[in-house]
Amino acid sequence: MSDDCIFCKIVAAEIPSHQFYQDELVTAFQDISEQAPVHILIVPNQHFNDVGEMGDAQAEILGRIMQVASQLAVQQGAASEGWRLVTNVGRNGGQEVFHTHFHLLGGRPLGPLLTR
Ligand code: AMP
Ligand code: ZN
Repeated sequence: MSDDCIFCKIVAAEIPSHQFYQDELVTAFQDISEQAPVHILIVPNQHFNDVGEMGDAQAEILGRIMQVASQLAVQQGAASEGWRLVTNVGRNGGQEVFHTHFHLLGGRPLGPLLTR
């Protein structure tokens, strides 16, 4: 737990969120500023600044995030038309919250991967 981290507080339910899923490793909750009909953030319960800080010892957590993304895509009705899982790292990645998170996006055509 990092004291000044908003996502640590969401994991601990100290800040409210619309939670879709939680287990001993990961938590999934609604993005507060959704950019698609399905926009869910999936985070490790433990604090890491970004995915670059996670290694072999976190393989189970990272695997769980992928599985939960697939399951939530099905539950949210986005699986048949397709979806995207994105994690931003650092300044060039446009990262704003420095607790590793993956954006699960779907429910509409998502366009090109990058703006040109
Ligand atoms: P990133 O730019 O990849 O760091 O994404 C950070 C994401 O966190 C943005 O999509 C924000 O809308 C989202 N966000 C920030 N604060 C909250 C919050 N309190 N609850 C849910 N999502 C949030
Ligand atoms: Zn944190």
